[in-house]
Amino acid sequence: MKTAEIKRRYLAHFEANGHTVVPSAPLPAIDDPNLLFINAGMVQFVPFFLGQQTAPYSRAVSVQKCIRTPDIDEVGKTSRHGTFFQMNGNFSFGDYFKAGAIPLAWELITKSVEQGGFGLDPERIWATVYLDDDEAIEIWKQTGMPAERIVRRGKKDNFWSMGIPGPAGPCSELYYDRGPAYGPDGGPEADEDRFLEFWNLVFMQHEITDVKSKEDFTIVGDLPKQNIDTGMGLERMASILQGVDNMYEIDEIRPVLSRAAEMTGKSYGAHSGHAASESHPDDVRLRVIADHVRTALMLIGDGIVPSNEGRGYVLRRIMRRAIRSIRLLGWQEPALPILLPLARDCMSPSYPELAEEFGRISTYAYAEEDAFLSTLKSGTTILDTAITETKSSGGQKLSGDKAFQLHDTYGFPIDLTLEIAQEQGLQVDQDGFRRLMADQRARAKADAAARKTGHADLSAYRSALDAGGPVEFTGYQEITRESR
Ligand code: ATP
Ligand code: MG
Ligand code: MG
Ligand code: MG
Repeated sequence: MKTAEIKRRYLAHFEANGHTVVPSAPLPAIDDPNLLFINAGMVQFVPFFLGQQTAPYSRAVSVQKCIRTPDIDEVGKTSRHGTFFQMNGNFSFGDYFKAGAIPLAWELITKSVEQGGFGLDPERIWATVYLDDDEAIEIWKQTGMPAERIVRRGKKDNFWSMGIPGPAGPCSELYYDRGPAYGPDGGPEADEDRFLEFWNLVFMQHEITDVKSKEDFTIVGDLPKQNIDTGMGLERMASILQGVDNMYEIDEIRPVLSRAAEMTGKSYGAHSGHAASESHPDDVRLRVIADHVRTALMLIGDGIVPSNEGRGYVLRRIMRRAIRSIRLLGWQEPALPILLPLARDCMSPSYPELAEEFGRISTYAYAEEDAFLSTLKSGTTILDTAITETKSSGGQKLSGDKAFQLHDTYGFPIDLTLEIAQEQGLQVDQDGFRRLMADQRARAKADAAARKTGHADLSAYRSALDAGGPVEFTGYQEITRESR
């Protein structure tokens, strides 16, 4: 079943059950420095849950575009984490609660494909509940779920929040057993690759604050009403229904992955079994490329442009990682002019605006890649020389001076210096680097102050010149030139 069809069936099921279809909010929709991007379907409904606003409907259904940057290190290594993904969700604002949400979910996933459902084999489905939630256990049993496939789990997995202060609550999750080829038996507690989490039903009833981690927060009190917030990973459901090993192999992502494999002469999947943990490093890189190209497309599509701070910096890092990954696989030319149009073709059936705005999107994307490639070209030679020198003199740490020079003179980003040095078994004197950065900022401040008062303090320029030599900016500075 195609991803677009899964989405359509999800919306249709809940619409037939009295839910209003609400469009996805744009990725950067909220103004909260702690949450740069929407990370779940419920985010656009927060004021309804908190009782700050009255919802214009008591039941809603949506397919929300999401970004989870904390998952970026998992991408490609697990079967199930994307930086960008889509979350199907149904919501009740003080309307139905557990006894409504569980049967509605069960019906959709077990109803046959012919009848408009997803046709999952009930024998393969497991449910988890929050520690003491006997009520949820009872409702699951009424669906026919045997007690041995209902598992109690703690806060880390079964108490959901956005990761920032706001509405939260205990939850009940659905897992699909993909079989012994994917890992050992024993349910979600034993192996989360074999037992794939695909749907989370959150019983939204508390407000939390002081959030330090998934397990460390303070409950302020109860929400005015008992609500339901669910999230089903669209790509995860697609990987189940399409019978593929991971989310990067579904119809909306695979063409980009396959093309990247072709470009680099890699035979994707040739060396590995079904379990993500057995993956060949080249395969992991190909998945990273496919994920990150799609993420970049969706972010620029929603108005983010590469920059050195905030959301733009997240985009920049994601793009750099895709570009570097394909270079590490042996492709030295610009890759985005080949891969980005493919990602667009995969996604535009669901998001037609991507096709309409591709001129703008691709201009930013290709300029960013060009700029990064020239940065890499100038910086890599210098870094390689510095690494060789450090090693041959018996050192284990690249100097802060060198890291700063790379950053300042060649626009070579510090995270890349760290990454490359680490690959070569070296550390970087980050304290030294930070000191030089601070000095530079102080000089810039003095300069700005001088400009304001009209008294230029030339000594600042002089010492900057003495310290760093003539300054020639390349790379990222160029991206700001809109004409490119
Ligand atoms: P996991 O434990 O696998 O990291 P999660 O518990 O963090 O998932 P939830 O916060 O419960 O995920 O989100 C609801 C649903 O969204 C999940 O059940 C899953 O189907 C989907 N989902 C979550 N994170 C991702 C991701 N990074 N990529 C794709 N789908 C995701
Ligand atoms: Mg997670
Ligand atoms: Mg989980
Ligand atoms: Mg979950």
